[in-house]
Amino acid sequence: MKKVMRTTLGRKLTAFYLIIIAVSLYFLAANGYDYICSKVETESQESLVQTAASLIRSHLNTPPYNEGELGNLRQQLDLVSEMTDCRVLILYRDGYLPLDTGNSQKRDGYYMGDKKSLSHKVTKNFTMNGYLESSSLCVSLPLPDFSHGGGFLILAQPDSYIYSRADYYYNMLMTLYYLIAGLLGVIFFCIYIFVFRPLRKLRNGVKDFSISGDNPTIEIHTNDEYGELADALNVIGTELGKFDEYQRKFISNISHDFRSPLTNIRGYVQAMADGVIPPEDMDKYLHTILFETDRLTKLTSDLLDLNKLDKDNIFLDISEFDIHESIRNTINSLEGTAARKKIHFRMIRESDERLLVSGDKEKIQQVLHNLMDNAVKFSHPDSDILIRTRTRGDKVFVSVKDSGIGIPKEDLGKIWDRFYKTDLSRGKDKLGTGLGLSISREIINAHRQTLDVVSTVGVGSKFIFTLPKAAE
Ligand code: ADP
Repeated sequence: MKKVMRTTLGRKLTAFYLIIIAVSLYFLAANGYDYICSKVETESQESLVQTAASLIRSHLNTPPYNEGELGNLRQQLDLVSEMTDCRVLILYRDGYLPLDTGNSQKRDGYYMGDKKSLSHKVTKNFTMNGYLESSSLCVSLPLPDFSHGGGFLILAQPDSYIYSRADYYYNMLMTLYYLIAGLLGVIFFCIYIFVFRPLRKLRNGVKDFSISGDNPTIEIHTNDEYGELADALNVIGTELGKFDEYQRKFISNISHDFRSPLTNIRGYVQAMADGVIPPEDMDKYLHTILFETDRLTKLTSDLLDLNKLDKDNIFLDISEFDIHESIRNTINSLEGTAARKKIHFRMIRESDERLLVSGDKEKIQQVLHNLMDNAVKFSHPDSDILIRTRTRGDKVFVSVKDSGIGIPKEDLGKIWDRFYKTDLSRGKDKLGTGLGLSISREIINAHRQTLDVVSTVGVGSKFIFTLPKAAE
C-alpha cells in the first residue's frame, strides 16, 4: 500500500515563510544594489541634463562674456555646483577654460585633453583624461558659437556621490525589508498560535473519539469559533461514547420485550400440549396467548416504524390536509376502546371550518393516534379527553389533554426515550412498548416542528404539537 507522507499546516506555513524570505533576500542581494545604482544614475543624468539646458537658456545665450559678466556667471555656477553636487565647467573648442567651479584659484585655464567624448552629451565614469580628480558622470551640452568656435557647458558629478546616494537608498530598502520580514514573521506566528494550534488540538481530540467508553474532552476554552467548535465536538464525543452502551441497551430492551411474551406463549402452549389445562380454562389461556401475540405484533410494527424514520425521516410526503378531519378519524378508531372505559373525546375548535395544515398526513395521523391512545390508556374511567386546535400566526397548535394519572416530574424528560415507561403507568398498560412517543417526536421533528408535554401527577397530561398552517 502506498504510504502517505503527512505534513502539518504549521510546517507548511513555516516552509512558505522561509521560502518567501530566502527568495526575496536572494533577489535583493543579487540585483537590488545594481538596480538602485542604475536608477539613481539615470535620475542624476536626467536632472543634470535639465539643469545644464536651463543654464544655457538663461545665462549663456548672449555673446560674448566679458570679465564682469563672467564674474556674475561664476557666482551663479558656484551656486548651481553646490546645489547639485557637481563641478561646472565652460570649455571652448580651442581648449580655453574661462570658468571651472572646481578650480580653487577661480581663474581661467586650459584643457588640452580629448574633447571628442564631450560631444556625447552624457559620458559615464569619465575623468576628462585626468583633468577631474575622480571618475564622474559628465553631462556636456554645446554652447552657441559666439567666440572660440563654440564650446561646451559641462556638469561633472563624481561617481562617489551617486554611490553614496545608492547606498542610502539600498540601506533604507534593506531596513524596510527586515521590518516587513519581521512583521510577516509575527503575523505567521500569530496565525500559528491562534489558528493552527487549536486546529491541531481539535484534530488530536477527534482522532481519539470512539463509540465505546469515555471520549477525551477537547480543552479549548476560548470565546471564539474554535471554542464553539470544541464545545460542539465535545458534545458529539460524549454522545458517541454512549453509542456502544446505547446499542447494547437497545438490543437488551428488544430482547426482553420479545422474550417475555414468547415465554408466556410457550408456557401456555406447552401446558395445552401436555393436557394439563382443564377445558373450561382453555378460553382464558387462548385469550392470553392472543394478547401476547398482539404485543409482539405491536412491538414489531413500532420497531419497523422507528427504523423507517431513522433511515428516511427527511423524505416526508408533504401535502395540505384538514387537521380536524384527521382528529375525527382518530376519534372514530379509538371510540370503541374509550367507550369501554366510559371516556369521551371532546374537540375544541376556533371555528367549524376546515383547518388546513401542511405535513405528511399519514404520519401526523400516527402521531395523533399515539397521543390519543396514550390519553385513553392513562385516563381514569368516566373522564373526558380534550383535543384542541388553535391558530397562532402561521402555526397550528394541536393539544391532547387528559385528566389521568399524569407523569412524574423526573420522568418528563425521559418519556421521549425509546422503550421508556414510567413506573406509574406499568400497571395501567401492559401492551405498551415505550416507543410511541419517541416515534411521534421524530415525526414532528422531521417536520421541523415541536412536540412537548405539561403534566402533573394525579391531575393529568397535556401533549402539544405544532404544524405549519397551509398557505391560503
Ligand atoms: P407506550 O407505547 O408504552 O405508551 P409511549 O412512548 O407512547 O409508549 O409512552 C411512553 C411512556 O410515557 C408511557 O409508558 C407512559 O409511562 C408515559 N405516558 C405517555 N403518555 C402518557 C399520558 N397521557 N399520561 C401518563 N403517562 C403517559
